[in-house]
Amino acid sequence: MSGVPATLFQKIWDLHAVRRLPNGQTQMYVGLHLVHEVTSPQAFDELRARGWRVRAPERTFATVDHIVPTRAQARPFPDPMAETMADALERNCRTHGIPLFDLPSGSQGIVHVIGPELGLTQPGMTIVCGDSHTSTHGAFGALAFGIGTSQVRDVLASQSIAMSPMNVRRIDVTGALASGVYAKDVILTIIGRLGIKAGAGFAYEYGGDTITRMSMDERMTICNMSIEGGARIGYVNPDETTFTYVRGRRFAPKGAAFDRAVEWWRDVASDPGARYDDRVAIDAAAIAPTVTWGINPGQVVAVDGRLPDPAAGGHDRAGLEEAMEFMGFRAGQPMAGTKIDVAFLGSCTNARLSDLREAAKIAAGRKVASHVRALVVPGSQAVASAAEREGLDAVFREAGFEWRGAGCSMCLAMNTDRLEGREICASSSNRNFKGRQGSPTGRTLLMSPAMVAAAAVAGEVVDVRSWLPGAVPAGPGAAR
Ligand code: SF4
Repeated sequence: MSGVPATLFQKIWDLHAVRRLPNGQTQMYVGLHLVHEVTSPQAFDELRARGWRVRAPERTFATVDHIVPTRAQARPFPDPMAETMADALERNCRTHGIPLFDLPSGSQGIVHVIGPELGLTQPGMTIVCGDSHTSTHGAFGALAFGIGTSQVRDVLASQSIAMSPMNVRRIDVTGALASGVYAKDVILTIIGRLGIKAGAGFAYEYGGDTITRMSMDERMTICNMSIEGGARIGYVNPDETTFTYVRGRRFAPKGAAFDRAVEWWRDVASDPGARYDDRVAIDAAAIAPTVTWGINPGQVVAVDGRLPDPAAGGHDRAGLEEAMEFMGFRAGQPMAGTKIDVAFLGSCTNARLSDLREAAKIAAGRKVASHVRALVVPGSQAVASAAEREGLDAVFREAGFEWRGAGCSMCLAMNTDRLEGREICASSSNRNFKGRQGSPTGRTLLMSPAMVAAAAVAGEVVDVRSWLPGAVPAGPGAAR
């Protein structure tokens, strides 16, 4: 490393650059390629058609997540399309010697949940996957980003990828988060403030004392949704929290090799005095529990706030009107009190153990509203087992939630978990696009896991701050 203060982005870029390509892009070496059943079949077909092998099967790992049913997971899956995809992935992994974390493995789960928990995700790496929420892995101080199917083929064949340079935007979040305000609220606030396109061409570096105090689970929630702000890459500089998380995990370096790795990981963090292309400051103390009201993750409002008026001036009046009409909401209506039909606690954003713990604190001793269908879908089999050991499954079941097997479930609805008709879903996932949860007219309100649990019980959007122990009761079913 040159001695000139540099960002983590620049350091990892320089360390992985293979050569400059004639089109101005850079061929980058890929340290870890994560594969799932939806974006890989065609890529493997193309390899087969050309007679190519996978270049680095030891750096390639696969799981099944998007299409797996979460209620009954016995094979063959009832959906022939799901069975075909799972079968193809198994065959391709066998043919090319790629480790597959499938249902019998005990390590299956959403690709962005299992990578970190297995210790595959490590600081200083370049990580790719045919899924846009690969940005999640940036929480460890890696350059991690989603790729398309043709790029999956390229990485399988060459263990490298053509990349264009990016700018780096430093986002400092400082101050203490109030009780009842979580990492999800922080990232929704950032996206709401900067917009869903502001990250185009940028990598987001998150820092500041609020981020530094966050657990790895919380940092993953932040980085996961970078892509919703338009940034393909989001990262946090590695620190003691990162090293403690990685230590002892199955694929992490062991013994002296781990100590040597930590030395290098420290070195890869952004230097004091590094130059950024843009800087943004966010005051954590000003963040309230935050909910999306519209059809993109930038259309957010504080739970105790009111919906915007598209006619009030400002930008994107047409977009606001379209969202208002689709959602069936009116300008100025309060967010709290919006009735929900479904509560979904899951996805690669918020289905880790700490997420389930926070939601269980709210659900404990309460009952899901009679008109609400509520499901908890752990992010991985390991999360499910750990939660069951703590009795969280019993807490949720007793409250009236369904306790499901691991998978993407209703985040994307490429399986049987889906909204029906105009249902409104309080969801801990990451996208509220039209049709995202399986019904073309279904509506999604993104929020934190604790807020989902509170909405499930109340049957409507409520401010979780008044549901916490010691809080003043407010709204249906609140603190007793
Ligand atoms: S949980 Fe949702 S966003 Fe995450 S990998 Fe699955 S479908 Fe994609």
